[in-house]
Amino acid sequence: MNRVKDWRQYRNATRAVRAGQYQDVGDQHSEALALTSSYVFDDAEDAAEKFAGTRSGNVYIRFTNPTTLAFEQRIAAMEGAEDAASVASGMAGYLAVAMALLQAGDHVILGAGMFGTTTRLFESYLRKFQVDVSVAGVVDLADWRALVRPNTKMFVVESPTNPIMQVADIRGLALLAAESGALLAVDNTLCTPVYQNPIDLGADLVLHSAAKYIDGQGRCGGGVVAGRADLIAEVRGVLRTMGPSLSPFNAWVFLKGLETLRIRMREHSLNAQIVAEWLAVHPDVEQVFYTGLTNHPQTELVAKQQSGHGGLVSFTVRGGQERAWALVDRLELISNTTNIGDTKSMITHPATTTHGRLSCAQKLASGIFGNLLRISVGLEDVQDIIADLDGALQHSTGEAGR
Ligand SMILES: *Cc1c(COP(=O)(O)O)cnc(C)c1O
Repeated sequence: MNRVKDWRQYRNATRAVRAGQYQDVGDQHSEALALTSSYVFDDAEDAAEKFAGTRSGNVYIRFTNPTTLAFEQRIAAMEGAEDAASVASGMAGYLAVAMALLQAGDHVILGAGMFGTTTRLFESYLRKFQVDVSVAGVVDLADWRALVRPNTKMFVVESPTNPIMQVADIRGLALLAAESGALLAVDNTLCTPVYQNPIDLGADLVLHSAAKYIDGQGRCGGGVVAGRADLIAEVRGVLRTMGPSLSPFNAWVFLKGLETLRIRMREHSLNAQIVAEWLAVHPDVEQVFYTGLTNHPQTELVAKQQSGHGGLVSFTVRGGQERAWALVDRLELISNTTNIGDTKSMITHPATTTHGRLSCAQKLASGIFGNLLRISVGLEDVQDIIADLDGALQHSTGEAGR
């Protein structure tokens, strides 16, 4: 059994492999997969105490599970958080946070250019419950300040944004949120705890879609919310009552994923940097969005809060949407699929897929133009990725090519 009590004495790479170890079979070294939906109590009193929460221990799969607990503890250790609660998907994490910490009459400020479904959750569904929503420019603290009201309860932001890689000043937002009596929730899916730790920068909550880099193989859905223990306790209450809990099998896959996350992120980033630099000098490419490029408009802020750049590279191509679609259709190796964070490189046309449900005005405000493409750069040999892009660029024409 793990004898370490406080993971703060270890560095992040060590926490990723060691924290939250769980064993259920004697001398087994690797974390076990506990596939059971219920648990046997010692006696009637034990059952009553565990149900009431006055004694710790497992009751039922919707409440807790040893494997999901190990995953939660490991993520919490990596994020420098007091606690974490795992959920059935990244979106379930947002829903659980909203149900736990917001009520009718509250106001939320959302960063512009967030993951499309996150924006939709707040703008379409939470409004039905009288939670009012404003959207602030991600890079502009003054914009956030101007939108604060007495009933503002939460700031929600993603940094960098996907697909156009705008960076939010997390420390600045944390100070403003604290001043305003609001919580700051940061979506850290893109950077992962390997490259960014929002809690160290003052955030109250960190959200992840674990289906992306944490899984890393494009197999399992899930998510996690990390943060202050009192807030996570509220989120656990929602999971127990409303049910969007994580499957133990998926938790076990993610637990293993965290152990190789650091080396995978390093390789994703190396490949993405090369692809971004190659695209940046291609005559048919208008603009490249990647925080690792020296012409990114926020390099100073990036250097302050990120220790790496990850695998997402977006770019606009000459020839409009027609050319962008033709390019997607000409690729032979890179997959046309909307996921990110897989070992396999993937390309997406955000305006008609991930961000397709946004209005035209919302798309323009978020920089989701028709000629924009996003690549999740995978772990193939980067020369093969570039050769595929090169071939597709050569053999595609758009409005300008006619
Ligand atoms: C995918 C994603 C989500 C939603 O997560 P799901 O696991 O798909 O529900 C939220 N935020 C970001 C940044 C994402 O990439």
